[in-house]
Amino acid sequence: MNNNIENTTLKERIFSSEFQSLPPHHALIPINNASLFYTLCDEALSKIGRFGGNDLVVVSDAETIQQLKEIDNFLPNISKMIVLGLSPSHWDIPVETHNPPPYFQNADRLFIIVSSTIAISFVGTIIKRMDTNGNGNLDGGWSYHRVYIQHLLHLFAPSLLEQFRSYKEDLDKITEITTRIMSVQTELLSGHESLVEMDKSELATVLEILKVISSKKRAHDVLYVFVEQISKVVQSDRCSIVRIWGQEDMVHVLASHDDANLYDMTVPLSKYPEIKKALSIGDKVIINNVQNDPLMKPCLDSLIQKGINSILVIPIVLNDPEVGSLLLRAVRKETGFTLREINFFEIVTNAAGSALERAQLFESVQQANKTLQKLAVTDGLTGIYNHRYFRERLDEEILRSLRYNVPLSCALFDIDDFKKCNDTYGHLFGDAVLKEIATRMLQTIRRTDIVARYGGEEFIIIMPQTSIEGAYIQAERIRKAIEDRPFEYMGKSVKITISGGVAEVVQNETLTVEDLLRIADQCLYQAKRKGKNMIIASKQINLS
Ligand code: GH3
Ligand code: MG
Ligand code: MG
Repeated sequence: MNNNIENTTLKERIFSSEFQSLPPHHALIPINNASLFYTLCDEALSKIGRFGGNDLVVVSDAETIQQLKEIDNFLPNISKMIVLGLSPSHWDIPVETHNPPPYFQNADRLFIIVSSTIAISFVGTIIKRMDTNGNGNLDGGWSYHRVYIQHLLHLFAPSLLEQFRSYKEDLDKITEITTRIMSVQTELLSGHESLVEMDKSELATVLEILKVISSKKRAHDVLYVFVEQISKVVQSDRCSIVRIWGQEDMVHVLASHDDANLYDMTVPLSKYPEIKKALSIGDKVIINNVQNDPLMKPCLDSLIQKGINSILVIPIVLNDPEVGSLLLRAVRKETGFTLREINFFEIVTNAAGSALERAQLFESVQQANKTLQKLAVTDGLTGIYNHRYFRERLDEEILRSLRYNVPLSCALFDIDDFKKCNDTYGHLFGDAVLKEIATRMLQTIRRTDIVARYGGEEFIIIMPQTSIEGAYIQAERIRKAIEDRPFEYMGKSVKITISGGVAEVVQNETLTVEDLLRIADQCLYQAKRKGKNMIIASKQINLS
């Protein structure tokens, strides 16, 4: 941004002093044109205003309010208005007028919308007189980061602070609105082609990257797409995201743009003094010529060997401390990084942080659900599905089989003379046999088959889209897998066998789970009667 003497005061307040303690990713997304500033404020107002609710509070200066086209339309949705300077008209809503602080001068602009789920802020200074169309250069930007907004409220509307802190943001809505504002900004900039060619393409890229990473739900996908995209735009020889847990002296490389399959590679922190420094100062580290930087002295040889000239490290600040410290690290061989590129890196890193946070939340909820679901449907001893799950699945599969007229079979197994086995070798060995049988069954079945523990020493396999002939062959294969390899017990080999009954769903005959199970059980009973260690199917199987 330009250094303009006229506006050092607001800038000082916003970019230094209190704001200096802000994490670097809270950088404003730049706006450098006054009419664009108002349009974006309007856009934010109408978007957020439409979400309804009666908790909308607007903090702004009198001049900005004057310029907003949408303000009258959304007045009914605004519960309170805090105006710096004189309020422009008599509105039907509570308006608090404040004298602006001395550093907030005529050319300064401020617009903050706070609701219980979304907040967004616009701030800047007009640096050239406006023409009649409201055009003029502006030095400012917008941000949706809570820490940033909190600081602005602290300066301009401290009475809102406590309330704001208690609000919980809605990340989906924020993404929707910020993506919208970003695209309006890009669109409008294309109207001023010659003036702002650079900004336009940069914003379009930010928008593109935001869109792509916002569409990813898995944390690793967000990370990978992010490094892949950014290394394409700001050409880098290596771009990666690393994580450091607490005081650990290892660096976990979570994603690297040149390797989509890299998930977590660990390297010692001592090899990366630039990361160590970024962690300790909580800010970006730029090394634009490794040979001249004393920080890099300990590892200069290896850097020279790799041909690395410049390194950039930017912390990605997340609200959740549980996830450790994340940093972006980019490396270049030929040239250094320009300030413009660094600024760009920061803005995109900022966007990635939000997307990542959401993805992580999503993943942990999903993981918790999966664990709970898994516990509810698995058998504690063998780890295969339990009876409850099996019943539910068989109900579904039978319905599907009858509806679509596709075959469905099931095989019921029972261990032969298991009581004797328990009596001879003990219950613990019996348990080990049950586990091993489950393992062998899992190894033998097809991916679409479902194996479950039916009862004490009985197992069942559901075989979708399988006729009785196929099911019989499958059951025989399992029987042999048990018979062929004896079970080991204290150096002795114990031969275990199983018997099985196979049944198939027959249209117009087998209509319920009970029907199917009854037939399979009758077959199993016959197998036992005929001498065990065999499979009997409910219909004559001709294997030749
Ligand atoms: P058959 O060949 O006719 O099936 O004879 P069997 O001895 O296997 O039949 P029975 O139903 O008489 O015995 C089943 C045994 O399975 C009795 C029970 O102690 C044992 N059993 C059931 N659940 C478990 C278990 O979780 N662990 C162990 N170790 N044994 C079990
Ligand atoms: Mg039994
Ligand atoms: Mg038995």
